[in-house]
Amino acid sequence: MQSREDYRSSGSFAYAQDKAAPLRIELGRRYRFAASHRLHTEALSEEENARVFGKCANPYGHGHNYMLEISVSGEVDPATGMIANLGDLDSFVEREVIEAFDHHSLNEDVAAFRNVVPTTENLCIEIFKRLKNFPKVLSIREKALTRFSEDAFG
Ligand SMILES: [Zn+2]
Repeated sequence: MQSREDYRSSGSFAYAQDKAAPLRIELGRRYRFAASHRLHTEALSEEENARVFGKCANPYGHGHNYMLEISVSGEVDPATGMIANLGDLDSFVEREVIEAFDHHSLNEDVAAFRNVVPTTENLCIEIFKRLKNFPKVLSIREKALTRFSEDAFG
């Protein structure tokens, strides 16, 4: 597992003003992790699995580096000057996503993928479900977004 400090990059901030609405700030945070997977479904033959999933269908699995970008948006709390506490967001993401996925087999170690193909799309859905549990007190809105890019090294 990577050190606590280097799995994430610093946040970026942007804003756009809609004159009819209160000013909303969007805050982006980026996290990295590595995990192995095997893309395979019983619904397809071995040949079809190989054709559809390519090297990701390798029976022994292989690894990817993942980049997770989380955006939160909302109004700035005038008392704290923040939309959300980045330290709390980081520790939440570390606990719910990084520790659960980093250097793990998605198929074998993550219950959600026992019967679901761990494609990047399904990984995104699973992470989004986990992020919805972020405490509302921090004003994380339903607009929280996740996006993945996947860089194969295997
Ligand atoms: Zn793969």
